[in-house]
Amino acid sequence: MKIVKSIKDLSVYRKNKFVSFVPTMGALHEGHLALVREGLNCADICIPYIFLNPKQFAPHEDLEAYPKTLEADLEKLEKTGAQAVYLPDADEIYPDGFSTSVKVSGISEMLEGEFRPHFFDGVATIVTKMLLQCLPDIALFGEKDYQQLLVIKKLVSDLNIPVDVKGVPTMRDENGLALSSRNAYLNEEQYQIACHLNRILSDISKGKINENRGREALLEAGFDKVDYCTVRDAQTLLPPDENTTERRVLAAAFIGTTRLIDNLAMSQ
Ligand code: AMP
Repeated sequence: MKIVKSIKDLSVYRKNKFVSFVPTMGALHEGHLALVREGLNCADICIPYIFLNPKQFAPHEDLEAYPKTLEADLEKLEKTGAQAVYLPDADEIYPDGFSTSVKVSGISEMLEGEFRPHFFDGVATIVTKMLLQCLPDIALFGEKDYQQLLVIKKLVSDLNIPVDVKGVPTMRDENGLALSSRNAYLNEEQYQIACHLNRILSDISKGKINENRGREALLEAGFDKVDYCTVRDAQTLLPPDENTTERRVLAAAFIGTTRLIDNLAMSQ
């Protein structure tokens, strides 16, 4: 597997190939690898990208603690069949004097945007840079970060970036917990609490309980704080109205200092 470190080498490597691109922050798990597998299915070459982007963490968040497992990540990517990995240094991405920010209004200002106001500008800026650096034919993102997927689709459409953005379903463990690099922060007791998140979202998605009851159920299950637990229009993320054809239930909640997010399509 080729390790590409610079923008120049990346553009030389991808030339004349039909390429898919999988951006990640490392600490790779089966969810990331599902994106790579799908990338290999739909393109000749899949290039995952590992960069722990400081711009999408606020000063009080977990940038320092975020798991860093580069050697194991490279091994997993190689085993999965990725032909190359893009592994730029921070100054390749943010050289001295870097002063541009990409902001997607509207869809990035609610839900995650309300509770992590720095987050989507950081994501939109890095994703725009990455897409322009690689100009992949296809870029894959997980539905696990459903709002992020919509923000990226919007920026690609608004800026006419010539790439097809593809969402990949969420990979879960045997207890239904969405795989996440942040699950590594959970001890056994916290893990048991975390597993209720999918169960409660599933009850909401099937209409067994409403979103308010879902929020209470999360607190009763042991979550310490619920940022949101809400049913939204799956395209706009606004509260559903008479034009809504598809709905999605989305939640973010804390166990101690660990913040978990998850979402499901509503089945009715
Ligand atoms: P991250 O490294 O957490 O920024 O995630 C990189 C990409 O992997 C994003 O597009 C995520 O949505 C996706 N991803 C993370 N966890 C999962 C999962 N459990 N299933 C599918 N995709 C995921």
